[in-house]
Amino acid sequence: MSFELPPLDFALDALEPHISARTMEFHYDKHHRTYVSKLNQLVEGSPPARMSLEDVMRRSADSPSGQALFNNAAQAWNHAFFWKCMKPKGGGAPSGALAERLKGNFGGYDKFRTAFLDAATSQFGSGWAWLVQSGDKLEVIATSNADNPLVRGKIPLLTCDVWEHAYYLDYQNRRADFVKAFVDHLVNWEYAASQLQKKAA
Ligand code: ZN
Repeated sequence: MSFELPPLDFALDALEPHISARTMEFHYDKHHRTYVSKLNQLVEGSPPARMSLEDVMRRSADSPSGQALFNNAAQAWNHAFFWKCMKPKGGGAPSGALAERLKGNFGGYDKFRTAFLDAATSQFGSGWAWLVQSGDKLEVIATSNADNPLVRGKIPLLTCDVWEHAYYLDYQNRRADFVKAFVDHLVNWEYAASQLQKKAA
């Protein structure tokens, strides 16, 4: 058994003009695929080869000798999650339970949007911006490199990849424009809402 590159729910050109097919070709078919293949090389013939991706991440997260394993496992997980967080003609304010939660936790969608854009643009270097559930609260956080909130006891609801490889072909150094396009035109709120847990984790 080995870890696999999960299929996308949309065509490579489906997120245009916000994310080009060319970016998706590199990002999904080269970067994401490489994390999955490196992970398979690292676990070959050892117990983590039979674990879930989440368990591999949790067990390697704080292990000094497990950094390569954690980085590749977490990047495989983060990318699979990021693709699920987007859909063509997405973005804007959510409705339903998540709209209420954003209101209760941030004072409304606009304030959440500002917090998310701030976290994504101020993350120094490579990383990820997240909307997470922490106990009963929702929070916006950023993580660096491959780091993932799941291994810190938080439940990811939404993420945006802010590694340069996510936007450089389309936006060059304008990360803020990429993150705005993500929030305003691509977010799959139905998927984010499906990740909400009723009780504190
Ligand atoms: Zn990426």
